[in-house]
Amino acid sequence: MELKGKQELYSTLYKVGSEVFKMTNACGIRKDPISGKCSCENTRRNPAYEATTRVGELCCSDCNHLGPEGCTVEALACKLWTCGRMADWAPSAVISISHLRRVARESGIHLSVRATKEECFKK
Ligand code: SF4
Ligand code: SF4
Repeated sequence: MELKGKQELYSTLYKVGSEVFKMTNACGIRKDPISGKCSCENTRRNPAYEATTRVGELCCSDCNHLGPEGCTVEALACKLWTCGRMADWAPSAVISISHLRRVARESGIHLSVRATKEECFKK
C-alpha cells in the first residue's frame, strides 16, 4: 500500500476504534461528582488500581501527550489497545479492536504505543 493510502487508513482506523470505545462504553469511565476522581471498569473491579483525578491518567499515566481531558494526539496504537481484563465485561469491544489492530498490521502500518501519527510514519 502506498504511503498516502496508509496514512488515510491510519486515521480511519483511529476513528473507527474511537467509535467502538464510545458505542460499547468498554472503559466505563466515570467521574465521581463529589470527589472529582475518575475511575474506569478496571479500577472499580481491581482493588490494586485507584481512581485518579484525570480521565486520561487511567491508562496514560506520565505520557507527554496527556492533557487535562485525555489524549491530545492521534495515537492509533493506543486506540487499538485494550487492557487485559476488558474481555471480562466487554468481549465484543475486544474482538472489534483486535480486528482493527490486525487490519493495521496487515496493511504495514507501524504501531507504537504513545507515538503520534507523524512519528508512526517517520522513516
Ligand atoms: S483500557 Fe482498561 S484500564 Fe484502561 S481505561 Fe479502559 S478499562 Fe480502564
Ligand atoms: S499517546 Fe497513548 S498513552 Fe499517551 S495520552 Fe495518548 S492514549 Fe494515552
